[in-house]
Amino acid sequence: MKLLFTPGPLTTSETVKQAMLRDLGSRDDEFIAIVRGIRRDLLSLCGPGAGDYEAIPMQGSGTFAIESAISSAVPRNGSLLVLVNGVYGRRMARIAEVHGIECRQLVFAENEPVDPAAVREELARVSATHVAVVHCETTTGMMNPVEQIGALVREAGVAYIVDAMSSFGGIPLDVGAAGIDFLVSSANKCIEGVPGFGFVIARRPALEGCRGQARTLSLDLYEQWAGLERDGQFRFTPPTHALLAFRQALDELAAEGGVTGRAARYQSNADTLVAGMRELGFETWLRDEHRSAIITTFRYPDDPGFSFEALYKQLSDAGFVIYPGKLTAEGCFRIGSIGHITEKDIRALLSAWPGRPQSQPGIPLRTQAGK
Ligand SMILES: *Cc1c(COP(=O)(O)O)cnc(C)c1O
Repeated sequence: MKLLFTPGPLTTSETVKQAMLRDLGSRDDEFIAIVRGIRRDLLSLCGPGAGDYEAIPMQGSGTFAIESAISSAVPRNGSLLVLVNGVYGRRMARIAEVHGIECRQLVFAENEPVDPAAVREELARVSATHVAVVHCETTTGMMNPVEQIGALVREAGVAYIVDAMSSFGGIPLDVGAAGIDFLVSSANKCIEGVPGFGFVIARRPALEGCRGQARTLSLDLYEQWAGLERDGQFRFTPPTHALLAFRQALDELAAEGGVTGRAARYQSNADTLVAGMRELGFETWLRDEHRSAIITTFRYPDDPGFSFEALYKQLSDAGFVIYPGKLTAEGCFRIGSIGHITEKDIRALLSAWPGRPQSQPGIPLRTQAGK
């Protein structure tokens, strides 16, 4: 089996995969109890103020859950301001466009975090009912200051939607303190489950406000919640096996020390990766203070003979899957440090790097990269 150094789907543990080896009916009492437990445990990952929130799983990949939140939360006469510094920000604007939701984008460079001062100015200038931003912009690995932005958004009396797809469960975030109304993530990122569903963590009054607003039947966030509250069931066929895997993944997250324990492993993975790649002569594309421990973007080397496709194939043949870049401007590729992988796996990837002398006995890597 190949190891995945990607932004998802990710490498999962044997035990997470094994949890799927049984069939459960969607009306089975055991299944309903599992779903209830998953919804409760998701809230325990949200920080101290989670009592005001509800967790609503939604079938599909992460984008389906974002589409559910946006198309359910913004009323007919509402308007969305999307803060964009990468592909996933742009995708939220595209979702709004498809649903005929009035939408503006405040666009930043892909190598700069969203600037709260610019957001404040924009909110004073334009009328928006909702603001949306990506926490970790997986396009580059950039961390956006969602807490600071949240304070401004709240001050302006506007609702706040955060795509925390690639960060939730792997980077501590106090959802209530950040003033978030709708946070969206999915099963197959930092919680290390398998693909099949996403989820929305919604502030209860904001969620109640979604009633009757949805623009689709299947992605109606309010009705999905109401159904789960009514009889514990999904409205339409649930991804039963993915939910069983997720139950196991949540237990493994708790056993690792919760979000802080997981964050520490991801940080050591990323530190080992960046130190090793720098020794191989690669440069990171983002400045260190903006870089997350989730995924790292590396510039193509200054070598006219370099081919990402050739590199990808050689590493893949050796059992290591890396990821292409998604930047609009420059030649870059990405390596993820999330999923069921450790520093040892990162070292194995670095040892397999094409061109590295075979005889080299291990890699002289620092475990703590300098800041
Ligand atoms: C993975 C990801 C998504 C969702 O992607 P899907 O392919 O729909 O699962 C959305 N936003 C961010 C920031 C992501 O990393």
